Amino acid sequence: MLSNGAAGLPRLPTPYSGILDALEYMMDDPIRQSRRFFGLVACGLTFCLQAVAGESLVPVRAVTVGNPVIAVIIDDLGNWRSAGVRTASLPGPVACAVLPHTPYGADIAERAYAAGKEVMLHLPLEPIRHRAIAAGTIHLDTTQTQLARIIAVSIKSVPHAVGVNNHMGSLLTQHPGHMAWLMSELHRRGDLFFVDSYTSEASVAFQIAIENDVPAIRRDVFLDNVPTEAAIDREFQRLKSLAVRNGIAVGIGHPYPATLAYLERNLPRLAGEGFRLVSVAESIRVLGRPEDRRVVQH
Ligand SMILES: [Zn+2]
Repeated sequence: MLSNGAAGLPRLPTPYSGILDALEYMMDDPIRQSRRFFGLVACGLTFCLQAVAGESLVPVRAVTVGNPVIAVIIDDLGNWRSAGVRTASLPGPVACAVLPHTPYGADIAERAYAAGKEVMLHLPLEPIRHRAIAAGTIHLDTTQTQLARIIAVSIKSVPHAVGVNNHMGSLLTQHPGHMAWLMSELHRRGDLFFVDSYTSEASVAFQIAIENDVPAIRRDVFLDNVPTEAAIDREFQRLKSLAVRNGIAVGIGHPYPATLAYLERNLPRLAGEGFRLVSVAESIRVLGRPEDRRVVQH
């Protein structure tokens, strides 16, 4: 693990960052319900205005042929060793997204890589609540130079990382300037894809990734905002329905015992049910080039 001091980053204990991540989403939930309506109205207006202006729309999902494709990411890894080890042993190509500068992050990344799993950097971005959430968080007052340095040291702390998704970030992903800095940095590095965890419906991260030629996709379902078997099952069924409807669906879960037990039992059944469980990189390939996509949801 890199010294946070040497990296010029704030040293913050992060044992609860995963829980806060889920809490942030849940606490926002009532607000989301009302936002959803206005978001849809805004979405429709944007669509009309762009169409009138002749601008190209940013497509979200491809219409694909063949079996519906599902990708699953478990993030918030790095603070709990046993949960990380269990995640790295999940059946199939489940991506393991590891928080930087965490006690077991490098070890879990090595284990996941050895098990043939895709390793991702789970990059902390400033949320609307909980300003101090994790070491190496990119804030609204982070400069472009600081941001590039944070990416460099964070990537170094998560060996074998081939992609990035945001930890929290309900504030920062709404800011096009910072997202442009982030995506141009990922593009400059040339070897990383991006998954918008979509912690805010106002996130512009996916759109700006595409504009910067960073291979990207967006999360559809959080599997375990309520970490009970019944709730996880409901979300998993929703993930499958979206995969059927759109051709591709991306789910994000966390290393909770209920989530891991559920996935251990249910991931091996997907193939028999006609789904294809794939790596995130493969799901982005299936999603295809932006110019080949059509808007089919949101
Ligand atoms: Zn997270």
